[in-house]
Amino acid sequence: MRLETRLAQIGNKKEKTTGAVSFPVYFSTAYEHISGKSTGYDYSRTANPTREVVEASIAELEEGDEGYACSSGMAAIHTVMGLFEKGDHFIVSLDLYGGTYRLFEQVLSQYGLTFSYVDLRNPEEIEGALQPNTKGLFIESPTNPLMQVVDIRLLCRWARQRNLCVIVDNTFMTPFFQKPLTLGADIVIHSATKYLGGHNDVLAGLIVAKGEEWTERLRFVHNSIGAVLGPLDAWLLMRGMKTLALRMQKHQENAQKLAGFLAAHPQVDEVFHPSLDPAGRKILDEQAEGYGGMISFHVKDPDQIPFILNHLKIITFAESLGGVESLMTYPVTQTHADIPEEMRKKAGVTDRLLRLSVGIEHVDDLMDDLDQAFRQAAIKTKKERR
Ligand SMILES: *Cc1c(COP(=O)(O)O)cnc(C)c1O
Repeated sequence: MRLETRLAQIGNKKEKTTGAVSFPVYFSTAYEHISGKSTGYDYSRTANPTREVVEASIAELEEGDEGYACSSGMAAIHTVMGLFEKGDHFIVSLDLYGGTYRLFEQVLSQYGLTFSYVDLRNPEEIEGALQPNTKGLFIESPTNPLMQVVDIRLLCRWARQRNLCVIVDNTFMTPFFQKPLTLGADIVIHSATKYLGGHNDVLAGLIVAKGEEWTERLRFVHNSIGAVLGPLDAWLLMRGMKTLALRMQKHQENAQKLAGFLAAHPQVDEVFHPSLDPAGRKILDEQAEGYGGMISFHVKDPDQIPFILNHLKIITFAESLGGVESLMTYPVTQTHADIPEEMRKKAGVTDRLLRLSVGIEHVDDLMDDLDQAFRQAAIKTKKERR
């Protein structure tokens, strides 16, 4: 079965008693031991029928062995890190979601885990970060917000020789565009709040693992930590995922047009979209089916940024991504505010950087909106300086 079909069919033909096409929401937390025997469901934290549909679906979509649904993307990452112990060290993407950095440095560091942040496109830097206690690689690709593409297959081969666990945050690509487990990764995580949910209305995280070494322990840790996805949220996520294929195609089509528009705009100097970076594009052509719907760009004059954000009429100035509505984020004060300035600068996340999650609106309306906001910003900035 092809991905589009799997997606549209999520939850269908699973409820055999009533034949419900839309899988029901099972709110019950407790389940009767009928005639003294478990039905396979005992207590909702351990297993819930609605959550299970989502878990089985994401495992299939990512071509892994087992899926685990969590209450948020951060909960998913926290749960995965629960596999490791005091003294373990990780090599992590330098350009990284700010919340992941905060979890690693301000929470997990208290439990004795340590992390080195390097440009994962640079083999020497990776080799240099390796320690005797290194246990894993944590990869974002394309990275957030600078859309740097790393060669996942190459890193997995390197990690395999050193017996390291490879964890990939696949939030930006989704299994529609990229399946890290087929490239050699062990564990994939998602902030399903983003593209998988797709409608800016459900907070969720997903984990998929391949191989018994990981699945058995993850099942245990997922249940033990208990940061599981609620049944109604699981249903919302399921409903969103059904249209993932259509949405991702449109996100990408719009993003490519807008990337071209921005690259040619006189008030913009650098545009980051994997399709515009020859090295990244080459890798993605090998390891993925597309370039995604996220764009970042440097505005030439940082003083214009507040005016641009204030004058957008369709695109919303808000902190998230992956929904049908276009959102603009200012990483320095929003998603990446918890990353120290020095490290942010090293990664290239400057005060001139804006990030655009391209929605599925008509691309001409988005272009017009950006154009008028840029124009207003130029006028206002000039006036202010007078
Ligand atoms: C949003 C995001 C997360 C965190 O997910 P939440 O659902 O907000 O907890 C992790 N990684 C990436 C790449 C994200 O964009």
